[in-house]
Amino acid sequence: MAFFEELGKRITDAGQEVARSTKNFTQVTKLNAAISAKEKERKELFAQFGQLCYEKGGQPAPEDVAGPMEAIRALTEEMENLQAEVERIKNVGKCPACGAELPEGAAFCPACGAAAPAPQPEEPQRVCPACGKAVGEENQFCNYCGAKLD
Ligand SMILES: [Zn+2]
Ligand SMILES: [Zn+2]
Repeated sequence: MAFFEELGKRITDAGQEVARSTKNFTQVTKLNAAISAKEKERKELFAQFGQLCYEKGGQPAPEDVAGPMEAIRALTEEMENLQAEVERIKNVGKCPACGAELPEGAAFCPACGAAAPAPQPEEPQRVCPACGKAVGEENQFCNYCGAKLD
């Protein structure tokens, strides 16, 4: 009897694990797509930058390159932030000290006793500034009241 109880429990655990990783997987896929898009954008900027240098005979004035440099720097920073977010998601449910799998809701790691990170709050939902209803991430307009979203 205990065997079946144990088995049932394990199946439930596995199910929860899958649900959690599917959600994370989707998020990671989205983030990776965003990173690739920025990488592409950055390559174009590098190309413009290179062309500019070439046109200036290899010695562009600082004010000529300041714009592209700033844009590249900003893009790089955004990419790093996205990458950090990917790492964070991948490490959800793992002990920050020893990397052991943490049971859901654990306050301390059962393997090494380190304090487990506080559970991540759900993604903040985007709300319409006019009517306060939750709207889609990519919406241009509120689908409830038609207000323009920024
Ligand atoms: Zn640990
Ligand atoms: Zn609205």
